Amino acid sequence: MNLEGKLASVDSDALRDKEANSQRGRATTGTERSNDSKTMGNVKFVFDFEEGDGKNKQLLGGKGSGLVEMTQIGLPIPFGCVITTEACRQYYAKSKKLPDGLMAEVTKHMKRLENKTKKGFGNAENPLLVSVRSGAALSMPGMMDTILNLGLNDSVVEGLGKATKNRRFAYDAYRRFLQLFGKIALGVDESHFDNILETAKKQLGVEFDTDIETDNLLKICNEFKEVFKKEVGQEFPQDPWKQLQMAIEAVFRSWRGKRAIDYRREFKITPKMADGTAVNIVTMVFGNMGNDSATGVGFTRDPGIGENALFGEYLINAQGEDVVAGIRTPKPIAQLKKEMPQQYEEIEVIRQVLEQHFREVQDFEFTIERGKLYLLQTRNAKMNATASIKTSLDMVSEKLLTKEKALLRISPGHLEQIFHHQIDPTAHAEPVAEGIPASPGAAHGKVVFDADEAERRGRLGEAVILVREETKPEDIHGFFQARGILTSRGGKTSHAAVVARGMGKPCVVGCRDIQIQNNGKSALFKDQKIVAGDVITIDGATGSIYLGAVTTVDPQFGPELSTIFRWADDIRTLGVRANADTPEDATRAKKFGAEGIGLCRTERMFNSTDRLPIVREMILADSATERQKALDKLLPMQKNDFKQILKIMEGLPVTIRLLDPPLHEFLPSIESLLQEIERLKDVQQGLQQMEMISDSVKVSLEPSLQKYIPKVENVISELSEIKKDHPLDELIKKKEEILQKVRETAEVNPMLGHRGVRLGIKYPEIYRMQIRACLEASAELLNEGVDARPEIMVPQVVTSQELKRVRRWLEDIKQEVEIKHGVQLHIQFGTMIETVRACMRAGRLAQVTDFFSFGTNDLTQATFSFSREDAENKFLPLYNELKILIDNPFEVLDIKGVGRLMKITIDWGKKGNSKLKVGICGEHAGNPRSVEFFQALGLTYVSCSPYRVPIVRLVAAQARLREMMLTSAELNNPDYPFNVFS
Ligand code: ADP
Ligand code: MG
Ligand code: MG
Repeated sequence: MNLEGKLASVDSDALRDKEANSQRGRATTGTERSNDSKTMGNVKFVFDFEEGDGKNKQLLGGKGSGLVEMTQIGLPIPFGCVITTEACRQYYAKSKKLPDGLMAEVTKHMKRLENKTKKGFGNAENPLLVSVRSGAALSMPGMMDTILNLGLNDSVVEGLGKATKNRRFAYDAYRRFLQLFGKIALGVDESHFDNILETAKKQLGVEFDTDIETDNLLKICNEFKEVFKKEVGQEFPQDPWKQLQMAIEAVFRSWRGKRAIDYRREFKITPKMADGTAVNIVTMVFGNMGNDSATGVGFTRDPGIGENALFGEYLINAQGEDVVAGIRTPKPIAQLKKEMPQQYEEIEVIRQVLEQHFREVQDFEFTIERGKLYLLQTRNAKMNATASIKTSLDMVSEKLLTKEKALLRISPGHLEQIFHHQIDPTAHAEPVAEGIPASPGAAHGKVVFDADEAERRGRLGEAVILVREETKPEDIHGFFQARGILTSRGGKTSHAAVVARGMGKPCVVGCRDIQIQNNGKSALFKDQKIVAGDVITIDGATGSIYLGAVTTVDPQFGPELSTIFRWADDIRTLGVRANADTPEDATRAKKFGAEGIGLCRTERMFNSTDRLPIVREMILADSATERQKALDKLLPMQKNDFKQILKIMEGLPVTIRLLDPPLHEFLPSIESLLQEIERLKDVQQGLQQMEMISDSVKVSLEPSLQKYIPKVENVISELSEIKKDHPLDELIKKKEEILQKVRETAEVNPMLGHRGVRLGIKYPEIYRMQIRACLEASAELLNEGVDARPEIMVPQVVTSQELKRVRRWLEDIKQEVEIKHGVQLHIQFGTMIETVRACMRAGRLAQVTDFFSFGTNDLTQATFSFSREDAENKFLPLYNELKILIDNPFEVLDIKGVGRLMKITIDWGKKGNSKLKVGICGEHAGNPRSVEFFQALGLTYVSCSPYRVPIVRLVAAQARLREMMLTSAELNNPDYPFNVFS
């Protein structure tokens, strides 16, 4: 059994498949079984529906195992057999040759089929026809091929006409077979057949295929056969056995058809999840034998709303593919109750049987041949978010599912849909461009191309979408006011994406269909010109961009959801906290069920417009006393921030991270300063020239100018007022000083520069102020009866020496504050783990801390020596395309590298301090696949954006459940994807 296949994906469908696989893993597998029934060669390749192991989807494919299961529980399935995916793998291993003995084995099973059906394959008197159908372990709808009506030839078709007393039907079946066979087995372009049919219909003056008479169908069949010769130089094989072999090979080939390969790439289906297609040979049943025949598709529950009622569509007198092809409009299944009440009742019973057996909503195909009902396929139904949640709750109360199974079948993607605005599905809007979906939700608004404009218009109450090539930290004010963000560059973890997710705003990034032009004043969306003020709609869940305002529907939270979350919380062992920097974020985090704040970034508090000037004062101070003056002004502000947040999170831990970013981030950029200085100098020069003008006018000999002298003098006196109020020399000098300072603080590589605890060590008064603000806030709250639980966290640590210093400050200040307020404070002290050295020194760091919190963004950068922005913009997409790296490591945690480092760190850390708590507060905390790994690592908590808290609560429960499904041998298996030492 392959564990990766079992655990790789969190798609709910895959989950169900995985569950089946795990059961299979413990029971006998099909391959094992085959060992005692060796037939031709050493492996058994073909299983009758009566004998296969329906739990083994890997071997029999989804369709095959469904047919096997249904046969074995007594449902009406046409007789048939499955050729295993193993045969397909061998077909490719032998450079596209059928494995030895396969056809002999197939022949043996076909003989049995003849006996069961009392018909003969290729026998014109009483012909057996079959369908040859593809079907891999994971459903890939429409991606591979199926041939119907196989076994017909020029004489059998006549026999079929006689046997069914319907010659037209026989030729129609032949026509369909030739068409499918030509296209799939011989590779003839289907347009040739379409053209022949269309021409015939025109000549005959009929509208539908169904109106073509027998003789004309016969002619068409002959023309089709001519096409084979002309197009691919091959005669139509009259021998049904030859047809069968060619069809089997064609189905195997379709596994590596372009459609199928693209599909697997898109949905990240790895060989461990599905490897090769099975081939199902199924006795044909005909829904097109008259008005007592029909074909249709059913769902055991409504996949749109989840209602527990039969749902589906059917066509009278039609073959299966007609329903899908949309040749005629099918009728709702409720109508079958009137047209064929007995068969309808039968389907109602089957609906119950299917659900009782599969314990999952099923999507099935049926055909009625002259009143007799057959099922031709069943699979787990794909549902939307609402239906998936409703059916989970219903099936638990109907005792079809346990709570655990119900939780496992809800996909995180579904919850995401529910928590955000969605494009109204009934709007049927056509996207103009597609980008990478980065933060779910849909929003519409006027396009603005810069952050200031977004802020200005947003403040005026306009709905705006910020559209940029990429965004930078200084665009943040524009984010606050924008309804959504759209960038033409960057990936899922670009600045825009990260910030937007943090704010829960819709965001689409890396939209290459868009070209920003004209210095960011207009854009081309494909070839449509868009200017500021034009309205667009973006869908951050799909990455689609629409022109105009597409209607959206509100997120729906019902009581159903709280039940689901209650179950999840009961099961999960991993704590879920939120990253929250402001009281608003904290409130939201709490509403979404966060059990604390795992990361409160204090720099956000420094960035607000009222504080930035003071922060700059502090940075530009020439002496420690001057700096202290500025800090004294900041202290009460910061204290107030902490007080609010600690109060909101009463009784829950709040991890406050001391200042982290390099100081230049708070200063204006060199370019903007240079520009400003230049402008001030222009003004200064202008003033000087004006003064000169007045003199020139006075001495001018032109009398007609004399009368303007008073006016000019007026202007000059007003201008000198500007000079008096704003001594330009001084202004310029001040700006130049700032410029000087900015140049001094500029760093070649700020990410690895003077930041984090290194700042704290150089300017202890900054960290001391922050610690004091936090402790004062807590003391005051305690005295007000509020249970404040701060934790102080130090960023960018590389050695315990750094921590010891900060800890000493903390202890000194704590003593002072305790005496001053007469309270006892309990402050947890911890470090971020985001440098490789910190990992290597984990044992020591743990001795001076209560907790570690992995900053996996920086730790990933440090482990790969990739700078994130550069990687994502320059080479990561190529690396992914070339499969050098499978995922973006900034999005999905790199288990084998970063994960391994984390594991070592935790082990050493726990040796240094057995009570050590370990969390993670990087972006990865919101990524379902990574969360599953964090569960396996045994972390205490993960901390993610408030908006992701609900999803992570569910994912953490699912991860726990899946972990419980595995035995310890499986957990230690090198194939176990979370086994970092393999
Ligand atoms: P897909 O995987 O694309 O749905 P299928 O193998 O299920 O392809 O077959 C396509 C259509 O042909 C379906 O509507 C199916 O019900 C119908 N079909 C397949 N085999 C038979 C059969 N033996 N008798 C009647 N209809 C069949
Ligand atoms: Mg099908
Ligand atoms: Mg960091």
